[in-house]
Formats: sequence, structure tokens, C-alpha cells
Amino acid sequence: MQKKKLAAALLAGGLLASALAMPAEAAWQCLPGNDWVYYTQDGSRKTGWLRDNGYWYYFDADGVMQRGWEMVGGVWYYFASSGEMQTGWREIGGKWYLFDSSGAMRTGLVHDGQQWYYLDSSGAWTGDDPETHTAVSATGKTMELKDGVLYVDGILIANKSAPLPAGYAPGQLTAETMAAFTKLQQAMQAEGLSLWIASGYRSYSYQQGLYSRYVNRDGRAAADRYSARAGYSEHQTGLAFDVNQVNDSFASTPQASWLAAHAHEYGFIIRYPQGKEDVTGYQYEPWHLRYLGVETATAVYESGLCLEEYLGIPSRYIR
Ligand SMILES: [Zn+2]
Repeated sequence: MQKKKLAAALLAGGLLASALAMPAEAAWQCLPGNDWVYYTQDGSRKTGWLRDNGYWYYFDADGVMQRGWEMVGGVWYYFASSGEMQTGWREIGGKWYLFDSSGAMRTGLVHDGQQWYYLDSSGAWTGDDPETHTAVSATGKTMELKDGVLYVDGILIANKSAPLPAGYAPGQLTAETMAAFTKLQQAMQAEGLSLWIASGYRSYSYQQGLYSRYVNRDGRAAADRYSARAGYSEHQTGLAFDVNQVNDSFASTPQASWLAAHAHEYGFIIRYPQGKEDVTGYQYEPWHLRYLGVETATAVYESGLCLEEYLGIPSRYIR
């Protein structure tokens, strides 16, 4: 907010500066009535989203900074009286609401990084046991919790919005997953393409070590793009694995092309497709396969959507 204090002076000088053909500086200004506006370098009022000094702000079509509740693109956000977009838990009007790391208000069954909660359709926390509730996803699929594990339309989910309990430990890839992999491998072998599992089941504690090594090497933000935090990895489900070379060179191999076209016929999807990082929360991983069964994998493949879009669920850390 300190920048705003500079704003009035800079803006008063703004017209003068442009008259003198000097570049104006972007600046906050407070209008009568305590409405804040933000003038960009070309002298126009900012509308829509602005990130400034580490915080997100939102301006309406007239360029007025928003406070309180605001629906943008069908999603509810909450802006403090300072205009800063809120994330995490917030008590508003005597009720608790949860906003994810992108500021979106969450409803239904929601994990906050510690435990599951049930938030009603207004977003308010009900205080009830979340396991006694079902919720409906954005695409109308039923969401339910069983022993701390989220199922959407009967499909077990592990993503950035839905972690598994530390004790969820099948110990290896499930028998069904392995049987489907063997069929897939044989079909590819028949075409002269080799396929092997580079990384299969990974326990909670193994993932904990893996993720912390990546954080030490690349930092947390970079690690979050390609590695899951403990509990959030699909490898802990026993239904997912990585094949062959686990690096970018795999994408241009004939194996990658074959899998992209045929994996669904054996019950698998390429879980983190190209161009879907904003939705899945992960970079393109042509080597990471998830078992869904032939029927569901084929439906997802034919939809052209990633699993989060198909099921209508988010994949974003709360923090
Ligand atoms: Zn993987």
C-alpha cells in the first residue's frame, strides 16, 4: 500500500509529464470516496487483475479496485479492505471460508493441507464430519470421501487438491494395473517397441524424501511443477507409473507417440498432457500413465480433456 501514497503526487504530475513527453509512471491513486484506481504507464486505468508487490488486486470495468466478495469468471474471490486477494482460511461475517492458492473460493469436499472439510454451496464450513457428505463436481460427478480418500464418479483421485492419507499404502502397483500393463507391453512389443516401468508404486515416505531433494535442488516453486508433495503423488495410489526415459527426450520417441494414440485401449491415460499444466498442476509428462480401466480411459481420451477437466475438479495446493 505504500506505493499508493506516492500515487496522488505522481498522478497529479502525470498529465504534466505527458505534456512534456516524459514517460509517466504506473501509479495508484485514491479517488474521493476512498475508491482506489491504478494508472498504467500509458495513462489508462487498469481493469481486471493486477499483481503488485506480491498481491493480486481486481479492478472493475471502470478501473475501481474491488473489496469484499467478487465473482470473476464464475469463481468467487474475496478481497480485503486493502484490496488484497485472500487465500487460505478466512473468517468473513462470522463464517469460515477456504480459498485456494489462486484465490478461488472452494465448496464441497476440500482438503486444506492438513485435513478434509465439508464446505456448503455458499462456501461456508459446516463443521460436520466431511465423510458423511457427498458433493457434486463442476461437471456433475459425485464426489465422496472414504477413509480419507477422495473418489469422483468412483475414480480414486490423488492431485494437488486431493492428497492421500500417509497410511494409504497398497505397497505395489495393483494387480489390475499390472495385468493391464502386461497387455500394453505385449501389444507394443509386437510392433517392435520396448516398454518398461521406470518408477511404479511410491510410498508416502519415499515421496517425502524425493520431493525434499528436488526442493533443495530447484526450490519449492520449481519442484511443485514436476514433483508432488508427500501424499499428493499419484504414484502412492498403486494405479500410476512412469515408463522408459523419464525426461523430455521421451516425448519424441515412437513409444510416446504410440502410447498417446493407444494407451486408452489398454485402460491407461497420459495423465499430465501437454498444454494442461494450469489444470493438472503439472508439466507435460508423456511418460506418466494412470490406470482407469478401458471404458473410463477411452471416455477421457475421446473427450480430449485431462482428467481434472473431465471430472470437473481442481488440482491446486491451498498453500
Ligand atoms: Zn510419474
